[in-house]
Amino acid sequence: MRSNQDTTGKQRSPTRPFDAKGIRAGFPILKQEVRGKPLVYLDNAASAQKPQVVIDTLGRFYSTSYANIHRGIHWLSERATEAYESARADIQHFVGAAEANEIVFVRGTTEAINLVAQTYGRTHVRAGDEILISTMEHHSNIVPWQMLCEATGAVLRVAPINDDGELLLDEFEKLLTPRTKLTAIAHVSNVLGTINPIRRIVELAHSHNVPVLVDGAQAVPHLAVNVQTLDCDFYAFSGHKLFGPTGIGVLYGKAALLETMPPYQGGGHMIQSVTFEKTTYNKVPDRFEAGTPHIAGVVGLGAAVDYVKAIGLDAITAYERELLTYATDRISRMAGVRLIGTAKEKAGVISFVVDGVHPHDLGTFLDNEGIAIRAGHHCAQPLMSRCGVPATARASLAFYNTQEDIDALAAAIHKSIEFFR
Ligand SMILES: *Cc1c(COP(=O)(O)O)cnc(C)c1O
Repeated sequence: MRSNQDTTGKQRSPTRPFDAKGIRAGFPILKQEVRGKPLVYLDNAASAQKPQVVIDTLGRFYSTSYANIHRGIHWLSERATEAYESARADIQHFVGAAEANEIVFVRGTTEAINLVAQTYGRTHVRAGDEILISTMEHHSNIVPWQMLCEATGAVLRVAPINDDGELLLDEFEKLLTPRTKLTAIAHVSNVLGTINPIRRIVELAHSHNVPVLVDGAQAVPHLAVNVQTLDCDFYAFSGHKLFGPTGIGVLYGKAALLETMPPYQGGGHMIQSVTFEKTTYNKVPDRFEAGTPHIAGVVGLGAAVDYVKAIGLDAITAYERELLTYATDRISRMAGVRLIGTAKEKAGVISFVVDGVHPHDLGTFLDNEGIAIRAGHHCAQPLMSRCGVPATARASLAFYNTQEDIDALAAAIHKSIEFFR
């Protein structure tokens, strides 16, 4: 069992606690003081910090192995190509994909979803067809589908949620019709923390012959994901939320589906042959990786998934669940504080509003205390209106956060309530 292994792969005794402080020591940025206070970083849902191993991997790659990939015949190019393709294999195993060619490198979750909307969508979706999403989606999982609907005359349908922020599965199922061409749902909500029952959602959708795209941006840093167990058709995530570099992300797609999809962008490497009369396209996934990719980003992301794997996602999930329970308890007990998102199944995201204090003012106040949170609509304006708030404050956890971080947060919220009274 992975939760019983430490970073060297040795058995960890079941009673040995999760070493968040030791892990934190491997993140140089977290050792800083900001505004004269020790940094408390609780904005992990916006982007996660990078461990030294990822930083070192990038430095080493550029110092020793960097060149353009795939087309070079020289030693460095071969080395860089090996590093790039071996990271693809690491990521394949990380998400449990059947084949390495089911992993397409893109800039991030946003680009992954746009790729599917523009290629799968443009070939399979016609006027009058429907795309089904949910109320809790990030703008990245709304706007690309709206653009597709505008271009094709298809219709966007939205499955509702309850007041705790849980998807209403009965309503979701009612919206699956013969016109539904695809459903796209977040695995974990970036605002509410809700963990959606993706396995069940896929079963329901597949029973109506509807393929499923999962927005996994907030899931991969917190939960063990296996795309074959989930049986989803597409799975999208970003490297930067998974302790890897910015500008790199992943689209997983079932090979059989990717094979049917035309290219997204035209250019170098995505072709098999080009004449002015006709161009034929490369195989999958190269067909979707036009131009020189973010080579170092891929190598850095490979290092990040190896790092996360060594800690073990089961151990991470268990630790973060404890920390979430602790934080939820501390914050919800404060007079004047209301949690937004109280689903039974949650990952480490705590959205809240404080009576009489605008979330932005609270965010600025906390920043002065050295505490980084996020305030705003979190790229989910339709969800904000469903929750009846213009914005929330959001503290989001990673495995390097500790009870002391939560204590500092709670103390600062308390202080702000006094201050703004
Ligand atoms: C962050 C996020 C995205 C967008 O990710 P990018 O890295 O900005 O492309 C999409 N969906 C969810 C749920 C997110 O949290």
